[in-house]
Amino acid sequence: MSEEILQNIVVIQERINNACKENGRNPNEVKLLLATKTVPGERIKIVLQAGYTLIAENKVQELKEKYEGLKEISHTNHFIGHLQTNKIKDLLKYNVSCIQSLDRLDLAEKLHQRLQFENKTIEVLIQVNTSFEESKFGASPDNVIELIKQVSQFETIKIKGLMTIGLFSADTEKVRKCFRLLKDIQQQIINLNIANVQMQELSMGMSGDMETAIAEGATIVRVGTAIFGQRSTPDSYYWNENKD
Ligand SMILES: *Cc1c(COP(=O)(O)O)cnc(C)c1O
Repeated sequence: MSEEILQNIVVIQERINNACKENGRNPNEVKLLLATKTVPGERIKIVLQAGYTLIAENKVQELKEKYEGLKEISHTNHFIGHLQTNKIKDLLKYNVSCIQSLDRLDLAEKLHQRLQFENKTIEVLIQVNTSFEESKFGASPDNVIELIKQVSQFETIKIKGLMTIGLFSADTEKVRKCFRLLKDIQQQIINLNIANVQMQELSMGMSGDMETAIAEGATIVRVGTAIFGQRSTPDSYYWNENKD
């Protein structure tokens, strides 16, 4: 079991390297983030011990359940799921260094209030709904610049870039459009030169579409299935507004 996971990681790292080579990019520019939703702590330990230490959960509950078992191994936690305001306080207990899914002003406001109270700061990426699907979270591309201007006023929140989930489609060109749009928004924001806003990270690309994302400029790819295997819980459970 553990050998299989490690072999899968080698294959993923090769896919990253090849995609970088084909696009004239340096593989050091692309970080591999392991999406660990539904994966038991024991299996996550295997990858951490092998030196792959950037991981992310989608739910505060899962973060909490696995926290004690993993904390002895040094690693970096990001958060990539839909975050409800009533979970902010809990999330901040588990050493999350970056929330990649900040997508609305009320969440930023509440997060800022809590961070001020705890005398902390946090890094975030702004999640953008580049596929225009209703089932997906993320700020609408039309509102994202305004949102970033507003969030930039909260000095506890350090914006580092953008995140998106591409369209699920076998049509690579449709998927590419989502990633291009994210890159395009990134450039628009860079041009605005907003105080307290950095734009170096583009988190895009998953098991099925990471090559396309790397071709379009991804700096973080988020991979789950291709490393840990199929999940029994459908992703709609994690991505749908009505369920938590
Ligand atoms: C689950 C998940 C991933 C990883 O998806 P795979 O297709 O399993 O590689 C990436 N990003 C987010 C936000 C996820 O929820």
